[in-house]
Amino acid sequence: MLSEFKTLGLCHTLLSSISELGYQTPTEVQTEAIPHALAGRDLLVGAQTGTGKTAAFALPIIQSLAQGTDERRLRALIVVPTRELAQQVYESFHELSSDTNLVTVAAYGGTSIRVQTSRLAKGCDILIATPGRLLDHLYCGNITLKHLSTLVFDEADRMLDMGFLPDIKRILKRCKPERQTMFFSATFDKKIKNMAYEILNDPVEIQVSPSNSTATTVEQLVYPVDRKRKAELLAFLIGSRNWQQVLVFTKTKQGSDQLAKELALDGIKAASINGDKSQGARQKALDDFKNGKVRALIATDVAARGLDIEKLEQVVNFDMPYKPEDYVHRIGRTGRAGQIGIAISLMSPNEEDSLLAIERLIDTKLPQEWLKGFEPSLDTEMNNEKPPRKRGRNSEKQKMKARLKIHANRGKKN
Ligand code: AMP
Repeated sequence: MLSEFKTLGLCHTLLSSISELGYQTPTEVQTEAIPHALAGRDLLVGAQTGTGKTAAFALPIIQSLAQGTDERRLRALIVVPTRELAQQVYESFHELSSDTNLVTVAAYGGTSIRVQTSRLAKGCDILIATPGRLLDHLYCGNITLKHLSTLVFDEADRMLDMGFLPDIKRILKRCKPERQTMFFSATFDKKIKNMAYEILNDPVEIQVSPSNSTATTVEQLVYPVDRKRKAELLAFLIGSRNWQQVLVFTKTKQGSDQLAKELALDGIKAASINGDKSQGARQKALDDFKNGKVRALIATDVAARGLDIEKLEQVVNFDMPYKPEDYVHRIGRTGRAGQIGIAISLMSPNEEDSLLAIERLIDTKLPQEWLKGFEPSLDTEMNNEKPPRKRGRNSEKQKMKARLKIHANRGKKN
């Protein structure tokens, strides 16, 4: 059953962990990346979340560390943009290395630095960290990167979007040049490629699905609707289609809280997850969603990054994303590892530019359907973002239009 994993060069210990996790055949990114990673090559990988990319770097790292020295020292570092992704990557390493003596630690903001410091003081082989917290530990002398043999940047595009480039440069300064580096990103624009080539040494390039494409197992659909009727339409979809688990994206933190409240008024259990919430509150919302206590999880783009929810079938874009690249990330939450999913976008008339930018980016025309009873009226009152501002100041709507234009132009360049 696991013969395909075996041909990639993985050892028996790992094959048994893989089998316990129920993986039967390697995914495309695993088939492509693992042999090169085991051979010590640098990698430049274009793969979205949901393709099995975590195991693609975790398995070779675990194998080479488990076969190396017994001395406990930090030899592999995985840098990720968000807390949720750090936790998720940590869990993957933990599960896959359960039959080895390797110790993995996760270090990210929003949780006690003291607890992390005491874990690090006991020694670890693998560290999963967000850039800011990693630098805190480095500057406090809690860790050294002197013995690092492998460095991974996961979701590098998002790290750049979040402004982590200076932090990444600081981290790189502390690493020795003789190391293996793996660079994973869902999207590749010029800025990312330039950064990758500065960091990597003669990398093997792997592109799992064409750049900026969306998972083929995801059905995509757009419902044009007045802005003010979106919450009602969402509640209707959840109820009439009996969705038990739907991940909904809003573009603002406030919007995510507001929508969770509105759905609750319609009797739909919902929770929001955004950057204003404590790590504990975010984790609780995620756990409640995973174990079925809440049906709708409302998230902002940053908060949703790295969420891994098994068998997620429905994703809804309540607001179209600010950046077309975010559409690819958002709908990557469904149709994971070959499962079927549906991604529905609720588009108000003033979001049409945003849709065009997305279609340009993914090079696909998204099907649109008017849902009976929710046809857009084009009435400005129904589509106003906010009450009109005082004269002489740029209205929210104008600002939004300007932003959409910028993004549409960016989309053109891609
Ligand atoms: P990732 O892209 O790393 O976020 O992985 C997405 C999901 O696919 C996770 O839930 C993994 O546990 C799962 N997964 C990874 N590799 C395989 C595989 N070879 N077969 C089945 N599921 C997998």
